[in-house]
Order: sequence, then C-alpha cells, then structure tokens
Amino acid sequence: MKFFITGGAGFIGSAVIRHIIENTQHTVVNLDKLTYAGNLESLNRVSADPRYFFEQVDICDKVELTRVLSHYQPDAVMHLAAESHVDRSIDGPAAFIETNVVGTYTLLEAVRAYWNDLEPKKKTSFRFHHISTDEVYGDLEGTEALFTEKTSYEPSSPYSASKASSDHLVRAWLRTYGLPTIVTNCSNNYGPYHFPEKLIPLVILNAIDGKPLPVYGDGMQIRDWLYVEDHARALYKVVTEGEVGETYNIGGHNEKANIEVVKTICSLLEELVPNKPEGVSQYQDLITYVTDRPGHDVRYAIDASKIERELGWTPEESFETGIRKTVEWYLSNKQWWSRVLDGSYSMERLGQGS
Ligand code: NAD
Repeated sequence: MKFFITGGAGFIGSAVIRHIIENTQHTVVNLDKLTYAGNLESLNRVSADPRYFFEQVDICDKVELTRVLSHYQPDAVMHLAAESHVDRSIDGPAAFIETNVVGTYTLLEAVRAYWNDLEPKKKTSFRFHHISTDEVYGDLEGTEALFTEKTSYEPSSPYSASKASSDHLVRAWLRTYGLPTIVTNCSNNYGPYHFPEKLIPLVILNAIDGKPLPVYGDGMQIRDWLYVEDHARALYKVVTEGEVGETYNIGGHNEKANIEVVKTICSLLEELVPNKPEGVSQYQDLITYVTDRPGHDVRYAIDASKIERELGWTPEESFETGIRKTVEWYLSNKQWWSRVLDGSYSMERLGQGS
C-alpha cells in the first residue's frame, strides 16, 4: 500500500512513519508544511529508505494537494497535520481554525476529487483516516464514566473546538459523499521526539538544567497517557483493519494527575542522573506552581474497549515502563532536543543556518 501521512514530521506522525517503514513493506509519502512543530530530524532513521518520500505541502493549498495526489496515487490518507498545542490555541486561535478546520476541509475536497476518479476496486478499498483527540469530549468531573465513542462533543479550548469541527467535517464527507472515512480519538501521548514545549519533555529538560518545573494550578488535572509507539501501532491497525464509518477511541488505561507525572519524572532522574545541577538538592524542589490555564479541563479518561475488542489492539507499555523509556531517550538524544531548543532544526531547512 501507499500511505499519505499528513503532519508526518510531527511527534505522532513521525512515529507512524517510523513504524510503517520499519515494520511493513508499504510506502509512505509524508506531507508536511514544516511549521515550528515539524522536524524532519525525527525521521533520520527512515528517511534514506526508498519507500519514504517527503513533500513540503500545506494542507490548505488545494492545488498542491491535487498535484501530489495525482502524482503518487495513494491507497490511504492518514490525516495528522494540525496545530496541536492548547496553550498556543489560547494565545492565537486563528492558525488552529485555518489548519485544523479549513485545512481539513481542503484536504477532504482534494481527496474526494481524487477518490471519485479511482477505478471501482481501488475506490472501495481507499481509506481516509482522521486522527483526533479525546479533548473533543470536554472534561469529566470526579469519577464520572469514561469517554466512549458515543460521548457527546463538548470541547473547551480553541484547539479542541477546532479538532471537533474537523471530526464533524470528516463524518459529513462520508455521509454526504460516501468518502470511506474512519475517525480515531486518542488520549495524551508521550514518548521520544516530543516537542519540548509539552509537559513531559519540558519537565525532563528543565530538571536536568536546574530550571523551575512549572505545574498549572494545583497539578491535580488528570490525563490518560499513552506511549506514542502504542498509538502508532493502533493507528496502523485502524487504517488497515478498521471498519469504514466507525470511530475508535484509543487510550492507555493510565490515568495520572499532572503532579504525579512530574514527581515520577523527578524520581527517575534521581536514579538516572544523580549528579544534579548546582544548588539543586532534589529534583522535586524545582516544582513551581503557576497560574492555571483558562478553561483548563479537569479530567480526561478514555474507554478504549472497542478497539481492543474489535481490532485486538492493546497498549504494550504501562506508564511506568513508557515513562522510563522516555526519560532514558531524552538523556541519550541530546543532539535531537538541543537542536530544537536552539532553533537550528528549523533554520537549516530554511537554508539560513549552519
Ligand atoms: P505536532 O504538533 O507534533 O505535529 C503536527 C505536524 O503537522 C507538524 O509536523 C506540522 O509541521 C504539521 N502541520 C501543521 N500545520 C500544517 C499544515 N497546514 N499543512 C501541513 N502540515 C502541517 O502534533 P502531534 O502531537 O504529532 O499530533 C498529531 C495529530 O494527533 C494532531 O491532529 C493532534 O490533534 C492529534 N492528537 C495528538 C495527541 C497528543 O497527545 N499529541 C493526542 C491525540 C490526538
């Protein structure tokens, strides 16, 4: 098969590409605009493979999308390109509406035109897989039941509202035009190659540098955490074995309060990096509570029993094993993250750096 993967230079998209190239015989075309979040260095392990192609494309650009669709003739599209950081969506929602809503619409229209012209057999087997978040369901209070595929949408942030809009568009393109779509909604991912503005890599890198570890509010916000490589395996299973028109929730059965996550990282670092920065006696002493994010969701928790039952997927990593692997990865991949922190990963691709 030939897969189009939008957002393949991002955190999850790059994990999906590494998974497909390293574990299957399929071909991948990575379509990415390379925003600040896109880093081709996350694909160094696979980029020399003859089954891997890269096209710098904005999903809002229908002419370019039409060109690459007709050139490569994909069998499936996995749509991950998005603006993905909640804090950035609060500071500047416009880019979220543009990429997540208008971009998804533009992609759907370009793909629909391409799909309409396919021969009947290819048309039936074609898949458009839209990758979304559990944040579209809003949040849960206390011990309320978990999010299922039937939970109604109640997004709280500009990010989750824009993702909710894109989910609705994808379902409408199936219902109205028959485009064979599938949607997945996943909980918080963590793991290697995660952009250092997100909680887990930020805490690891700040701690080893002796900087404050910022925790929003009282740190009691609960998230379900899934190791990114488990997510990549789930997405591959869904796109190849999932039923058209279905939605699958993907989660890790790992509900943790943010403060618990931060303290777990601190104790792993006590073990793995006992030589602390000057003036730091315990990593935990660096924890600093900061003003909560506006509209901050209290608890997300996902019921992933449908994908387990129907497609036989379960996560391989527990939070304890996954977070250890993640901390170890950041400790041994300084080159990757130091080039993100100093901006050289993006300067070079723009031809401006050394
Ligand atoms: P990311 O921010 O790391 O990567 C997004 C990628 O999309 C980047 O490579 C960026 O360059 C690219 N991109 C952005 N705008 C584009 C555009 N207009 N055209 C083409 N490419 C563009 O995001 P991520 O964490 O890898 O998330 C991927 C997808 O999974 C998103 O749709 C997100 O909503 C969803 N998701 C993420 C999580 C999570 O915990 N990270 C959880 C559930 C769902």
